[in-house]
Amino acid sequence: MIQITGPATFWLTAVLFFIAIFGRYVLFSIVFWWVFKVSMKDQFASREVQLRPRKAGQDWREIGWSAVTSLIFTAIAMGVILAYQAGFTQIYTDIHRYSLLWYPVSILVVLFIHETYYYWLHRWMHQPGIYRWVHKTHHDSLTTSPWTAFSFHPLESTLQAIIIPALTFVIPLHLTAVGLILILMTLSSAVNHLNTEIYPKNFDHHWLGRWLIGATHHSLHHTQFRFNYGLYFTFWDKWMKTESPDFHRTFGEKTSNSISSEK
Ligand SMILES: [Zn+2]
Ligand SMILES: [Zn+2]
Repeated sequence: MIQITGPATFWLTAVLFFIAIFGRYVLFSIVFWWVFKVSMKDQFASREVQLRPRKAGQDWREIGWSAVTSLIFTAIAMGVILAYQAGFTQIYTDIHRYSLLWYPVSILVVLFIHETYYYWLHRWMHQPGIYRWVHKTHHDSLTTSPWTAFSFHPLESTLQAIIIPALTFVIPLHLTAVGLILILMTLSSAVNHLNTEIYPKNFDHHWLGRWLIGATHHSLHHTQFRFNYGLYFTFWDKWMKTESPDFHRTFGEKTSNSISSEK
């Protein structure tokens, strides 16, 4: 367990955290880029939702913003570590301190609260007057890729980053559950910006799949702006009727294309 005892261990921990956070982003992005052979071309067959090709220099611009985001996440993580050491957080290390059932439930509770926070934050960030200062950086990526996953303006990164640390002060979370949530967050962001659908055909109607956001769902947010504000799950978009009317058709087109065609 990390013990920060002075400036040297503080900065060493900060550097290790930055490497872990930014490294995890780079790793996931590279894995998705190569393993899934992500094509950065327009995969949409639909005429109404044409995508433009990725802009020149877009990869490096997104990686640059993602490095800044990782720095902000690191700074906030350092704050949580100091608070944890001082005994202010509810993070625990003895798995038997609460019922074992609490472990998965605590993760679901955090994901639900994170989803709710992000959905409404995201709606707010699309308000005229807020959008250009906070959220436009992320939407400069009309055609996304895994590199877009952390490409946010520092104001947006900060707003996004505060919720999970805040929850560690009120919800008892096992240390590894916190790690798992952060991995899920990065994984989900990489998948959602993939621009290549990796879910199987008809998954958008599956009992579980219909509640999960994926590449097609979030791609439509980047091309249409007015729909699909969710983070991990589709329920707020369904409840608030902000799911794109083109979603199911586009999902069908993308999943049938991916079976037949291109190299
Ligand atoms: Zn947006
Ligand atoms: Zn996005």
